[in-house]
Amino acid sequence: MRVPLFAANWKMNKAVAETAEFVTQLSELLVAAPGTLGTDYEVLICPQSTHLSTLAASVGNRPIEFGAQNCGTAKSGAFTGEVSPAVLKELGCNWTLVGHSERRHIYQETDALVLSRTRAALAEGLRVVLCVGEKLEERRADQTMQVVQAQLSILKGMNASELSHIVVAYEPVWAIGTGENASPEQAQAVHHSIRKWYATELGDKAANSLRILYGGSVKPENAAQLLGEADVDGFLVGGASLDPVVFSNVIKNGLEFRAPGV
Ligand code: PEP
Repeated sequence: MRVPLFAANWKMNKAVAETAEFVTQLSELLVAAPGTLGTDYEVLICPQSTHLSTLAASVGNRPIEFGAQNCGTAKSGAFTGEVSPAVLKELGCNWTLVGHSERRHIYQETDALVLSRTRAALAEGLRVVLCVGEKLEERRADQTMQVVQAQLSILKGMNASELSHIVVAYEPVWAIGTGENASPEQAQAVHHSIRKWYATELGDKAANSLRILYGGSVKPENAAQLLGEADVDGFLVGGASLDPVVFSNVIKNGLEFRAPGV
């Protein structure tokens, strides 16, 4: 059974002071969602790292996960501007994103750097959401799977325990923040290919248990159809995660379409 995961990527948005109210409102709104939070579905919030201690205090004992948007390549050392995975753990994080398209394309992060971040995160016991996805010109040139497989190939050689800590987020770059989501068929086709690649390269067990999130202009209006696809196991949500009402509607609409435990 793959438990649906709804991850919020706040990017460089929100004041620290907005954090507590967001958590309170989201928790109240999710009472009306089908299934039990933390058991039938999981919610992960990734704010700027500056917000994490406030977020940890706001979450308290609630079954809401929180994590970073990126993570350093070493436990400590001369890495100005980076955030240590050990310190993320110290703050109570269980998760980090790596390889987000904004990191890859605005800050030129390479697959080698994404691998190094992933390894450092895993070494500290963090779970990793590895983001992959093609640019518009790559899709038009029919290179989507080639690009995605190259980004996934950093996982080759990882052991079963490491793989069990990885979630893949398929985020076509042309769909991020544009209002134009991949169609459910387009998302399913890529998610299915990712699972097939996993089975071939990493084994059936890893493939069957892998959660593959879709990201790219997810909103309440398209959540049900996207989560209705067999290989879509949740979402990574940017813009629509900033408002607790909108984010909770993404979750509720998605879950209503996909019965808990499917
Ligand atoms: C993202 O930042 O990962 C993302 C998918 O953004 P948006 O939902 O705004 O397209």
